[in-house]
Formats: sequence, structure tokens, C-alpha cells
Amino acid sequence: MAAESVLNDLPIVENATDGGMGAFEEGWRYMNSNYSRFQISTYMSACLHIVTYFLFCSPSFIFQFFRFMDRYKIQQDKPTTWDQEWKCFKLVIANQVLIQTPFFSGAYFFCQYMNIPFDYESMPVWYMTLAHCFGSLVLEDAWHYFLHRALHHKSIYKYIHKIHHNFQAPFGMTAEYAHPMETMILGMGFMWGMLLFCDHLIFLWCWMCVRLIETIDVHSGYDFPINPLHVIPFYGGARFHDFHHKNFNGNYSSTFTWWDKIFGTDMQYKDYYAKLQDQKTEKKAN
Ligand SMILES: [Zn+2]
Ligand SMILES: [Zn+2]
Repeated sequence: MAAESVLNDLPIVENATDGGMGAFEEGWRYMNSNYSRFQISTYMSACLHIVTYFLFCSPSFIFQFFRFMDRYKIQQDKPTTWDQEWKCFKLVIANQVLIQTPFFSGAYFFCQYMNIPFDYESMPVWYMTLAHCFGSLVLEDAWHYFLHRALHHKSIYKYIHKIHHNFQAPFGMTAEYAHPMETMILGMGFMWGMLLFCDHLIFLWCWMCVRLIETIDVHSGYDFPINPLHVIPFYGGARFHDFHHKNFNGNYSSTFTWWDKIFGTDMQYKDYYAKLQDQKTEKKAN
């Protein structure tokens, strides 16, 4: 049995197809031929996570240096300070190294147990992976709504979730600024998609990137009129989650708006923007 598991972890010998390999295919085959399943699912996943995280955090970091971007900032009266950014960076890095990397070694055991293929031939077509990522977002959003709302209960709020609310005006990097317990509790929502839809390593990586891009966008603190994520039906977006940080109550969902609509936890948000709109109309009239 032990010998079998060692064999399972050996690099896969990929058979090259007849010429015409694209860079992606070549890279994928090289990875499988030179690294073990453990190295790929643990270290490469953790690296991809860190690179994707800071890559997508960088726009909202850079925008603060350009005054003309201020018009898109949601809470313009609360500029981000260097102290906040440094404080956030330290905790996020500690979380990623101490919590997320061991999590990815769990991903290795998951892939082994579920017999998840890594080879190029078994890779699903892109539109199926995209559809599976959407399904995973729906499941994660439901988990996030109820668990996040529970973390706001006054008997436990100060012990766990208060840390994430340290920033009343969030910026991209605050997406993963959280108590390790919260990272684990809300991070469980990620697993539903894995359990139901994971059919290849590429799904783990795509789903991870989709979830990271979504959570960084809603924490970015900027709301742009052109944002490709807003083509997703019922997508909450930055303004929706920014209000949760500003108000501490309501808008508990991570991605979509339907749970807050069903349970009426978006009332304060709707009232706030309705009043703001009234004030604008009044100003124009005068
Ligand atoms: Zn909260
Ligand atoms: Zn948040």
C-alpha cells in the first residue's frame, strides 16, 4: 500500500503530441514530467495563490497615487494610509504561509484520495471549468452568507470576525485580513465546489483564482463603471461589500445579492443609496 502511494506521487511521464504544442501545453507537460503530485498540488498551488493575490491587489494599491482615480473611490473621506497597508501586509503574509500553505498540502491528500488527474490529456474543456467555477461561487456564497452572519452574532463577534472589520474603508489587500479561525471557517465554503466539481487539477487552480479575484474586487474600495465582473448576474461588487465594512451590519454575502435580498439584510444598504440619490437630485434641482 505504501509502495503504491509512493508510485502515485512520482512525476507523470507525459507523452508529447505530434508537434504544434502551444506554450501552455508544453509548460503543463514539463511541470508534470519534472515535479511530483505533492510538489505541484502543495507548493505550486501556494505560489499561484500568493502571486494571484498580490497581482490583483496591486491596482487598488497603485490607484491611491493618482488623484484622478479618487472619483471612483467609494469612501473618499477615508484614504488608505501606509500604516494600514503595512499592518495588513504582515497579517496576510503570515496567514498565507502558516494557514494557506498547510491547507494546500491538504489539497494534495484530497487529490490523491479523489484520484484527481493532473495530466494534460484529461484536462476538461474550458467552458465546463468556467461553468463549474460559477457553480462553486453559488455554493460558496450560500456558505459565506450564513457563516458570516453567524460570526456577527454579538456573543462571538469580538473573538473572531472583529479583526476583519479593522478596516472601515477596505482596500484590495484586506480581503484576507482575518483571524485564522475565520480563514478556516469561511474558507470551508471553498471546499463545496471542490467536492462537487473538481475533475482535474486545473479546476482547483481556476476556482482558486476566480474566488481570489472576486474577493479582492469586492474589497478594493473602488467602483468602476466598466468592470467585467459585473456581467455576472446578481453580482454584488465593491459597493455592496464596502457598505458592509462601513456599516458593520447587513450585506453578508460574498458574491451575489440574493441571500441578503431574501432575508432583508440589504435594507440599510438600499436606504442609504436611495437617500444619497435623493440628495443628488435635490442638489441638481437647486
Ligand atoms: Zn463582517
Ligand atoms: Zn470584508
